Amino acid sequence: MNPATHYNEPARRDTFLARTGRDPEAFGGLVNTPVCRGSTIVANTLEEWESRKQPGNAMASYGRFGTATTRAFESAMAELEGGEHAIVFPSGLAACTHAILAIVRPGDHVLITDSVYGPTRQFAARVLTRLGVEVEFFDPALGAGVAALTRVNTRMVYVESPGSLTFEMQDIPAIAQAAHRRGAFVVMDNTWATPLFFKPFEHGVDISIQAATKYIVGHSDALLGVATANARAWDLLREGAHDFGQTAGPDDIYLALRGLRSLSVRLRRHHHNGIALAQALQAHPAVRQVLHPGLPGDAGHDLWRRDCHGASGLFGVVLQPMAPARLSEFFSALQLFGIGLSWGGYESLVLPVDPPKRSVRPFPHEGQLVRVHAGLEDVDDLIRDFTAALGRATRA
Ligand SMILES: *Cc1c(COP(=O)(O)O)cnc(C)c1O
Repeated sequence: MNPATHYNEPARRDTFLARTGRDPEAFGGLVNTPVCRGSTIVANTLEEWESRKQPGNAMASYGRFGTATTRAFESAMAELEGGEHAIVFPSGLAACTHAILAIVRPGDHVLITDSVYGPTRQFAARVLTRLGVEVEFFDPALGAGVAALTRVNTRMVYVESPGSLTFEMQDIPAIAQAAHRRGAFVVMDNTWATPLFFKPFEHGVDISIQAATKYIVGHSDALLGVATANARAWDLLREGAHDFGQTAGPDDIYLALRGLRSLSVRLRRHHHNGIALAQALQAHPAVRQVLHPGLPGDAGHDLWRRDCHGASGLFGVVLQPMAPARLSEFFSALQLFGIGLSWGGYESLVLPVDPPKRSVRPFPHEGQLVRVHAGLEDVDDLIRDFTAALGRATRA
């Protein structure tokens, strides 16, 4: 079946994205929830002050717990992900690390996918081990086999599907079942699929993380993270974040709220551009392999079809071996792809990737790995630009 047609994100999401996180009546008719700044929030009476501290209103007594801008974004994200509540962080990585810290205790054992986002791996290896947590990485293809690695003290299984450098899909429901049998929490980095293309809580995830810096903000102009929890994990997540004084600025949150309005429209285009570009590169003689779970024949394709409603614009390309000067020529010849970190903005990017660090088994592909982000440009222009640059680099 043509992967371009596997795009079945429910249409009513579009309506939700247009209406969520705003309340014109509360702000003099303004269409958008404004940037609300504030540290001190004053009360006029003792009764009013006491009421601010009631459980249902726990974050309304001081600006560090957010303002109306924060609440609007967090409630929109919680509903979009399908969780109970969400909390915003100043970066995607802060959301990852604080979600983990909220859960683990000295003496715990945690399982982390070997394909995890690099800085999260580094945090686990450096910080978690220092705190007396035993960190074990597992093969992303393991699926239900994760059960054999769990122990009585396994506290968390951390997943990311697909991995944002190497694009292995994971069988999240099977892994979640194995984790829950031990009473462990399942934490997922859901940045690649976004809540539009993967519904983490329907697949057994307890905390879902978005590097909102990517598709949620969508314009490469702000850093932000969000963690959403189900009822089981929410108290731990909220306390964990507050204990560390985590807070994000209202200007960046405003940009994320704005990004949500066009999320579904943008992702539809990223889906189609990414698949069309990946298919064109698959057919190119200078390309050894394309790593994109949306392509038939990819190792993760069946899981992607089963669990995802679409693909974002991020995928990998393994080039045929070429001399460094040729590789350099390829990158210089690209006109429409900037060389840069991050992704999820409207613009196309490439990133040369060193062989990724692995604990369980080495990354199996030889040849330069290039991460590609298909932006919102005309896809024929993108294909023409990329194949022309490959042609220049490989011309005898
Ligand atoms: C970028 C990214 C992060 C971190 O987000 P920042 O906002 O850059 O800190 C986390 N996870 C994944 C998969 C990412 O791509």
